[in-house]
Amino acid sequence: LVRMSGVDKWFGELHVLQDIDLTVDRGEVVVVIGPSGSGKSTLCRTINRLESIENGEITIDGERLPEEGKELARLRADVGMVFQSFNLFAHKTVLENVTLGPIKVRKQSKADAEKRARELLDRVGVGAQADKVPAQLSGGQQQRVAIARALAMDPKVMLFDEPTSALDPEMINEVLEVMVGLAQDGMTMIVVTHEMGFARRAANRVVFMDGGRIVESATPEEFFTNPSSDRAKDFLSKIL
Ligand code: ATP
Ligand code: MG
Repeated sequence: LVRMSGVDKWFGELHVLQDIDLTVDRGEVVVVIGPSGSGKSTLCRTINRLESIENGEITIDGERLPEEGKELARLRADVGMVFQSFNLFAHKTVLENVTLGPIKVRKQSKADAEKRARELLDRVGVGAQADKVPAQLSGGQQQRVAIARALAMDPKVMLFDEPTSALDPEMINEVLEVMVGLAQDGMTMIVVTHEMGFARRAANRVVFMDGGRIVESATPEEFFTNPSSDRAKDFLSKIL
């Protein structure tokens, strides 16, 4: 569903993504881990062209990502993204946050968008908060709204960039539970996270990045019990 081949990206002199090959099949959950600065966020951001690339090709459902224009907006709408900071619109209600994209981009009627938004908000456990503004919600609730907002666009793939790292510990699990549920429902997901419990429970594959390269790609079982590279071993010894 998502295929990156030979992708290179530079920030000035910094070769931040180096010859990245990554294929994510439909329904697959890939967890991306690696040290700070290894290029994990940049990798996510290239998948919906928040960042341009210098070499290589990225396709989503067989369609090559164009540089710009209408086609890019259409393909980008197929890629849901959830960030560390929830990025909700502060002056809109929860319901408005979730319906905005479907109404503007997917051209849904307000009534249809609201019906679907309420279903999604119920699904992530914040249905009762629909008419509040984000500041009235806890961090965990806000992040679940952000997930509902992304799902409202009916994305083909969901990208998560450290979705729980800005949360207080007691709120991490409520967000991870929603993500595990999505994975079980067959959503295609690319998840940057340090939550190794999530990786063990939900990932089909763990990708380890270091210095802009994919150093290792393995099942969680293989990766956690017998990582093949020294760099992965060293990283795991620090976080586990
Ligand atoms: P972290 O775990 O800290 O989130 P990361 O693996 O997500 O790290 P990236 O954010 O992808 O790493 O950054 C990779 C490298 O690119 C870092 O050295 C970073 O400083 C650099 N970088 C990121 N964004 C930019 C930018 N817009 N301009 C210049 N350099 C950047
Ligand atoms: Mg990052």
